Amino acid sequence: MKLTVLGNTGPYPGPGGASSGYLFAAADARIALDFGSGVLANLQKSLDFTDLDMIICSHLHSDHIADLFVLRYALQEQGRQLPLYVPFAPSLDLASLYYKEVFQIKKITEKLELTRGNLQLTFKRLKHPFPDFGTKITDGATTFLYTGDTCYTPALDEFATGVDVLLCDAAFLEDNASDKHLCVKEACEIANKAGVKTLILTHLSPAEDPKKYLEKGKRHFKGNLLVTEIGKTYDIKALADL
Ligand SMILES: [Zn+2]
Ligand SMILES: [Zn+2]
Repeated sequence: MKLTVLGNTGPYPGPGGASSGYLFAAADARIALDFGSGVLANLQKSLDFTDLDMIICSHLHSDHIADLFVLRYALQEQGRQLPLYVPFAPSLDLASLYYKEVFQIKKITEKLELTRGNLQLTFKRLKHPFPDFGTKITDGATTFLYTGDTCYTPALDEFATGVDVLLCDAAFLEDNASDKHLCVKEACEIANKAGVKTLILTHLSPAEDPKKYLEKGKRHFKGNLLVTEIGKTYDIKALADL
């Protein structure tokens, strides 16, 4: 199981950067987690977009879905369709995602369970102004969780328990209990409580130096700490065995 960072900032990309997007790859699966601005270009450095099996969007804020609106042209040109899992948000018109029916749009709920090869995927509603779902992926031996965007919620404590590698919203560098995002300290506390082996901080501010996230996180997290870097590929199994 490998995770490649395609975009890691929010709510917009910095110079040459990209907002949220990750490629989760295993023997039988090529799954994009979120698809923000700049993600399609970065994806194609390691994978032909027609080789994707599915896209899962944590929620429908633009910094997590922007490149779907150009990927739809690319898919149409190739005559391809792609499953797209999204939580529905009552306030957002999804009509433009139905363009030429290139996306097979399916709704994420807590009841949804997906199987792909030897992977199982489950979902949990977290807490954010738009409905956001965390995605948990396991092969039975190693478990990975991506939060999408969330502030603190006991649902995340519960969902993160038993997770080996946690890719977590840590939008705020300074301590800040907000109703939108986690701060670095909160992300670390959740990971400590859940017994996570490796915590990867993401949804970084394009205005901040990523090193500051690492410095801050190291003061609070007891395990192995990483900060996302675009283009980096992580071996999830290796990070779970530390
Ligand atoms: Zn975001
Ligand atoms: Zn958001």
